[in-house]
Amino acid sequence: MAHEVDYDQRLACAKRAVSDASVVCRLVQQDLENIQSTAKDDRSPVTIADWASQAVIIHRLMTDLGHAVVVAEEDSARLREPEHEFHLQRVVSAVRHVWTDATTEDVLDAIDHGGPTTDESEHKIFWTLDPIDGTKGFLRGQQYAVSLAWIEAGEPVVGILGCPNLSTDFSRPFDDPDPVGCLYFTYAGAGVYEQKLGRPDSQAVHIRRLAPAEGEPVRVCESVEAKHSNQSQTGQILAKLGHAGEPARLDSQAKYAVVARGQADAYLRMPTKKGYVERIWDHAAGALIATEAGCAVTDIAGELLDFGCGRGLEKNRGIVCAPPALHGRLLGAIAEVG
Ligand code: AMP
Ligand code: MG
Repeated sequence: MAHEVDYDQRLACAKRAVSDASVVCRLVQQDLENIQSTAKDDRSPVTIADWASQAVIIHRLMTDLGHAVVVAEEDSARLREPEHEFHLQRVVSAVRHVWTDATTEDVLDAIDHGGPTTDESEHKIFWTLDPIDGTKGFLRGQQYAVSLAWIEAGEPVVGILGCPNLSTDFSRPFDDPDPVGCLYFTYAGAGVYEQKLGRPDSQAVHIRRLAPAEGEPVRVCESVEAKHSNQSQTGQILAKLGHAGEPARLDSQAKYAVVARGQADAYLRMPTKKGYVERIWDHAAGALIATEAGCAVTDIAGELLDFGCGRGLEKNRGIVCAPPALHGRLLGAIAEVG
């Protein structure tokens, strides 16, 4: 029973952390053009939001839980360099929207708490964080996600995905950012819940997806970026299933949520670059959310994802996420395509 209380506390803290970071990302995104023109650097807004989001989340975990091992995407080394003074100032002022008394040193220390350590495969119990997943989507003003998961023995057991530009209304196109956004949360065995972002009064809705009916067209989603997923192979796989339909394209782990809530039937991530190893923070929260909604999540060989090998999914290649009946058909089609 004590275990259960632990998960509840962890989940409550992580939800608050991801909600706060989502607010910060949204504020930075609203200032996109202004930052780009001042910094004369197209990537500056995402750089600022990335660091600010990581600082806010780690601060919340440390404050509420007292202790937290965090394996995150960023560290503060570049931010500490004199030529990044502009970014540092912007990061601190973004953070202060939710962590009002943060000093510059507080912010740098919080970011570094998630930076690389000597041997990360040593960690058996830890948080993994992608402060902004889908940076290209963030810069296009489209989909991105704030992703936080708690890993035990190589498996995510708590997962939270903040999707600041994703609407709960399926009729809204993915490339049209929602003014509210949504949040998905779960812990293993507890199912998946959907909530509007920044609306504490909004009801958490339990979602569970149904398998697509036999013979119906298969609605796949995949990356917008052709460098991240082999889109022509996805087309060949769909053709094997007898469907030539265009996949829905959106950035970030929001794809897992879109499958979990039944808006797409599958998420396919077909490897592009030989030797590319997927990062754990790009999949931990999303994969748990899809699994808890009733989907099967594996790599393209049908192997379960192993989050216990350090920062990378060293034993896996690509992703196949779909309700079990369809998942098997997809693996078969992938084997045929080769
Ligand atoms: P997505 O938004 O689904 O396109 O995925 C974004 C993530 O793709 C980023 O967080 C990167 O870590 C990751 N990424 C970068 N290069 C590659 C690659 N060659 N193959 C697959 N994923 C990649
Ligand atoms: Mg990412």
